[in-house]
Amino acid sequence: METHFSKEQLKNKDNKSSEKIFRKCVHCGFCNATCPTYNLLGDELDGPRGRIYLIKDMLENNKPASEKIVKHIDRCLSCYSCMTTCPSGVNYMHVIDHGRSHIEKTFRRPLIDRLARNFLSKVMPNPLYFRVIGILTLFVKPISFIFPKRFREMINLMPLKFPKKNLPKMRVYSSGKKKKPVARVALLAGCVQEVISPQINEATIRLLNRHDIEVVLPKGIQCCGSLNHHLGKNDLANQTFKKNILIWYDEYLKNGLDAIISNTSGCGTTLKDYGFIFRSDENLKKKAKKISELTQDISEYLDENIKLNFIKKKENDKEYKIAYHSACSMQHGQKIHDIPINLIKKTGNQVFDIPDGHLCCGSAGTYNLLQNDIAKKLLKNKISNIEKIKPQFITTGNIGCITQIANGTKIPILHTVEIIDWYTGGPKPEVLRNL
Ligand code: SF4
Ligand code: SF4
Repeated sequence: METHFSKEQLKNKDNKSSEKIFRKCVHCGFCNATCPTYNLLGDELDGPRGRIYLIKDMLENNKPASEKIVKHIDRCLSCYSCMTTCPSGVNYMHVIDHGRSHIEKTFRRPLIDRLARNFLSKVMPNPLYFRVIGILTLFVKPISFIFPKRFREMINLMPLKFPKKNLPKMRVYSSGKKKKPVARVALLAGCVQEVISPQINEATIRLLNRHDIEVVLPKGIQCCGSLNHHLGKNDLANQTFKKNILIWYDEYLKNGLDAIISNTSGCGTTLKDYGFIFRSDENLKKKAKKISELTQDISEYLDENIKLNFIKKKENDKEYKIAYHSACSMQHGQKIHDIPINLIKKTGNQVFDIPDGHLCCGSAGTYNLLQNDIAKKLLKNKISNIEKIKPQFITTGNIGCITQIANGTKIPILHTVEIIDWYTGGPKPEVLRNL
């Protein structure tokens, strides 16, 4: 694609990076074929190629974002399915991030929109605020009809239960055995996941400890920053990124870290991008790059580093039929697809890919809260594809997808790490108690 940035414009690091990406695009449109919003809406501007044109035009001509551009960019899920399909290696993720940040700086959204986005940006990344709002929401649910549609949808999507934590809150979890641990890793405990599904971190810690790996949760780390990053709120996101980088790097230097584990693929994708985000920051680039290099999804880490001890227990003698939902951030963002499936196969159960598995379930961070109508259609399609398999339960590696899919079906859904924990000596996951 031809570009027309001036020399002055290319002094800006983001323009420079985006220009290189635009030049790779050969307008072939292959990406449209696998774009969920293009498939649903049929509009060129709701596909990756159209969005690339919109962003390029806005940046090249130094234009503020218009209502039309915002509409089409907001509808993008950041699912990165287009990146998997693109034969030219266009990094759409960096282009859409740049576009979103430009929108945030140059476009004044309608009041309700601003209120909703500011609310999400403050509440979601903070587990304490999220818990308090969640409890308040329980009282408001019966009268949710009095709220504007945007807020009504958010209220209805809030979980009804906040499970109790079973593991005591500690900074370091060790195996309890006297011998030296075989490795030491940091776990990103996350923000929303920590509140609505604490059992995922607990299964991860138990599993790693059982295999003689020490797990550390450095003080001060909560959100990975991706929620604000995807809302285009780069100042807020960068504050979180910088804090995380400094804390983890300090831990790495002082006590040693063999890996930083993410069990939420959406967060893992962002952590692996810290190096790019701070590529021009002289103080942080080396540290950010190291943090990205240390980051691994839990499935990757288990596959590469641990000889898992699968054990037969009375309650898991049965053979289950499991549907594997490949989260977009896992398959398209991190290019991890077969690893979790092969790990589950080692438990002796049958695992099936979901038809049209490359298409998003509609969760996409805060997307299901902000673009509820499209998210609902995508969820409906996902559930109908899952039902074709007739599984006894569903598994995936991303809390957003777990919450979204659970809203559309009664088939139990759980994180892949909970299955591996169970089959290597952990308790049977609560969500499967009736199976
Ligand atoms: S990220 Fe997903 S929704 Fe956005 S353009 Fe690419 S395929 Fe379409
Ligand atoms: S598939 Fe890649 S090269 Fe082709 S239009 Fe889409 S982004 Fe451009």
